[in-house]
Amino acid sequence: MTAITIALTKGRILKETLPLLSSLGIEATEDMTTSRKLVFDTNRPNLRLLVLRGIDVPTYVQFGAADLGVSGKDTLMEHGGDGFYEPVNLGIAKCNLMTAGIVGKAPVTGRLRVATKYVNVARRFYAEQGRQADIIKLYGAMELAPIMSLADEIVDIVDTGNTLRANGLEPRQQIAAISSRLIVNKAAMKTKHSRIQPLVDQLKLSVTGIE
Ligand code: AMP
Repeated sequence: MTAITIALTKGRILKETLPLLSSLGIEATEDMTTSRKLVFDTNRPNLRLLVLRGIDVPTYVQFGAADLGVSGKDTLMEHGGDGFYEPVNLGIAKCNLMTAGIVGKAPVTGRLRVATKYVNVARRFYAEQGRQADIIKLYGAMELAPIMSLADEIVDIVDTGNTLRANGLEPRQQIAAISSRLIVNKAAMKTKHSRIQPLVDQLKLSVTGIE
């Protein structure tokens, strides 16, 4: 039987993905949330799960190292989407991709500096708005950048807004509503169709309740 590999995003998305897989009867043979392993067998023959950093999931699926993946829309927007389909909105790990700045401080009207890990998304967003922006790549703690005058604004994920508030920031513009998506390698969708299509269909049914 053809082996199928699904790349999952560790952390919050993994916690919300596992119940979805369970609803399809797919269970890892070990606890994925506590184990330090990166590859897991499941109760289904020839179905393996990988646990990756979010930003690496689309890359594994793009190059066919994984057949399917579960990835946040924010990550897919930043990656660009080459090499895979995005057939199912799983509706999990919902949040918003937003710009944010210091509370009460008037937004900069001229050229502004934006700190973010989403450099491609930010570049596109400010260009579409007709605003000149210098984008500064950060790998974490984006909220610190405006406080330390590294940037005028940040582009980041916002859920409750608590992290922004705790750092004296406020949300400004919404760039996109985010949730996690199932992605499928384009070649695998053809060559392994008989094994992948049922998984896509079952996941669709599981998240919408509609066939
Ligand atoms: P909050 O304080 O609830 O607005 O959450 C903000 C932080 O939680 C963000 O900086 C993200 O790092 C993280 N976060 C919130 N929701 C998600 C999500 N759906 N996926 C990934 N990270 C998230």
